[in-house]
Order: sequence, then structure tokens, then C-alpha cells
Amino acid sequence: MKLAARVQQVTPSLTLAVTAKAKAMQRDGLDVCSFSAGEPDFDTPAHIKQAAIAALKAGKTRYGPAAGEPELREAIAAKLTTENQLPYSAENIVVTNGGKHSLYNLMMALLDPGDEVIIPAPYWVSYPEMVKLADGVPVPVQTTAAAGYKITPEQLQQAITPKTRLLILNSPSNPTGMVYTPDEIRAIAQVVLEHDDLLVVSDEIYEKLLYDGASHCSIGTVSPQMFARTIVSSGFAKAYAMTGWRVGYLAAPAELVQAVNRLQSHSTSNICTFAQYGAIAALEGSQDCVETMRQAFAERRRGILQLVEQTPGLSCPTPEGAFYILVNIGAAGLSSLDFCNALLEEKHVAAVPGVAFGVDDSIRLSYATDMATIERGLARIGEFMQAHL
Ligand SMILES: *Cc1c(COP(=O)(O)O)cnc(C)c1O
Repeated sequence: MKLAARVQQVTPSLTLAVTAKAKAMQRDGLDVCSFSAGEPDFDTPAHIKQAAIAALKAGKTRYGPAAGEPELREAIAAKLTTENQLPYSAENIVVTNGGKHSLYNLMMALLDPGDEVIIPAPYWVSYPEMVKLADGVPVPVQTTAAAGYKITPEQLQQAITPKTRLLILNSPSNPTGMVYTPDEIRAIAQVVLEHDDLLVVSDEIYEKLLYDGASHCSIGTVSPQMFARTIVSSGFAKAYAMTGWRVGYLAAPAELVQAVNRLQSHSTSNICTFAQYGAIAALEGSQDCVETMRQAFAERRRGILQLVEQTPGLSCPTPEGAFYILVNIGAAGLSSLDFCNALLEEKHVAAVPGVAFGVDDSIRLSYATDMATIERGLARIGEFMQAHL
């Protein structure tokens, strides 16, 4: 069958491929230690589920406005205003099928063929593919472990061309876990503001998962000028363990929100109505559940970092956010894909090859799993390294 060039240029997700293979091995009865998960291993907090059940019982089962339930848009705007110092109102918010969908819709609403999007690498797998699907040109900028995997103002300056339309920032980052400091954010904003038509999308889906006293700074807080150039993408999946609910949002200047709304009105329409009531409860209810999960992640993070440090041949910078570490495996002399395939075959440990994120000397380990798995898995990775050094 002749398929559209649009889909032929898109690479299938390597993350999902590894996870699928690991799951198949588990089904065959093998004891697999999986570090490939891109989601919290916790269940959605009970009060959030209750709110969705109540909404379902109250008949919130019909079409709603394509941009989202007015009450949820209000609640998101209020959260961004008070918590993040981003003065949005409901008209600046569009509710989407997760943060992934909000980014996809943004690319579709913003990019013309040939428009360039700067993507600091290592990057989240979907960014370049979304840009390509929207006929844009992804421009990856390789960052280094020594620079904390953060793009420098000089690198940004060099990557900008007359065709550059957008910069993607993701802090805390998937896959590196790194967090930009307020000073680093300000330095980037300065470069952005020197270029008239350049916008920034700030993917803040991991903003709540911070450790060692790190703080989250949205680039939109730098100045009113920068706020006007900022688009925030986020969602409920990571902070509230709601990955399967598919609720996210985009916050942006009203004109852009209206464009995304137009797209949604002809593609998805509104996202699941009663799921949106769960999201309202997530924002308006107690935030203790978020802190409880964060503390669990913090403990696992300490544990996994210690074990990596003790393993000959492995190294990684200390990340301050999300629930991933990007571990350098260069000492083994294998490509990241060969490394992960052999690790899964020989030691029954699932990890995601760095090549999926634009770095072939590393693998991503997710610590959204229990301590026992972390200990067992790292022991096996240690044996694997010993055999390959
Ligand atoms: C998980 C994730 C998202 C969005 O996930 P959704 O489930 O679609 O809300 C966005 N960006 C990054 C970097 C992520 O890891």
C-alpha cells in the first residue's frame, strides 16, 4: 500500500518497542527488571478517581466545548497564575488529550513548511517527529553531560536562522532529569528576545518532581515581553499519576489558543468529559498526594544514583528532577541499541537506548519502579558491564 510521505518519514517509538519486548518476556514467565517505564508506578489518587466517578454519575457524559470544560480552563489558569506566576486567564487555555497532544497541536497550528524548531538534545522522543509531521524542520542541538545536558545561550544563538520559529525547552527533562536554574533560563530568554519572531514552548510536565531543593522556573516569568513569546505545555499524567486519563493543556496567547481550538474542533473535539472533572479535583484538592509520590521518587533516586556510582564503567550527571537518569555506557563499546538488546537478552533488564533521544553513548533508566527492582536490576547491569569492559 502506498502510504503518505508524512507518516513514512516518522520513526516508530523505540521506547515502546523495548517496553513491548520486556512485557512479552514477562508474559513468558521471565523475571524482567524494567527501567523503561515513562510513567509513575502509582495508582491515581482516590479523590481524583472519585471526582470522575461522581461526574460520570451526574451525567457528564456528553460533548463539551472543544477547548475544554470552562471550570477546568479556569482552574488551570488560576494554578498557572498563583503557582507559576504566569498571568493566564481561561481564554489562554486549551485542554488537550495529554501533554503530547498539546505539543502536536501546537506544531500543527504554528509551523509552515520549512520552519525550523530548535530542540536541545538529548530530547524527548516525540519532539522531532511532531515537528516533521507538521512539515517543520527539527534542528537538534547537542548538549553535553559536562554542561548538565542544557543548551547554552551561545549554542542557541548559533542555531538560530531566519527560519527559526520555535525553541523547545523541557525542564525538568525527559530523558536527562536535568533542571535549568532561574539564571540559565534568564540567559536563554535574553537570546530569544533578540529575535523578533522566535517563540518558546516550555514543556513543564515534570515541574512537580524536583529534588535536592531545586526549583522550577518557567521562562514566561522572566519578563512581560518573554511571557508574550511563551507557550506552556503541561498535563496531569506525571504529577498525579494520571497517564491513562489523557488530560493535558496548552497555555498561550489567545490567538494561538483559538487556532488550536479550531484544529481540535475538527479532529478530536473535547477530551473525555468526565476525565476533565478528575483533573479539576486534582488541581483543587489537597496536594499531599503529589508530595507523597515525590518523596518516594526522591528515595529511589538516591538509591539508583548510589548504585550507578558504585558500578564500574557507568556514570551519569546528578539530575534534580523527573524520574529518569541518563547513564553513560560508552565504556562497554556498544551502540545504545545493541547494549539494550543484549542487556535484555542476557540479563533480563529493560532500558531505553539513548539513540531514541539523540545520544548513542547512553541509556535511559526510569526509577518509577520499586527499590527491590532497582537493586536487583543494577546488580545485573553491574554483571553485564563486567562482562563487556
Ligand atoms: C510524559 C511526557 C509528556 C506528556 O505526556 P501525556 O501523557 O501526553 O500528558 C510530555 N512531555 C514529556 C517530556 C513527557 O515525558
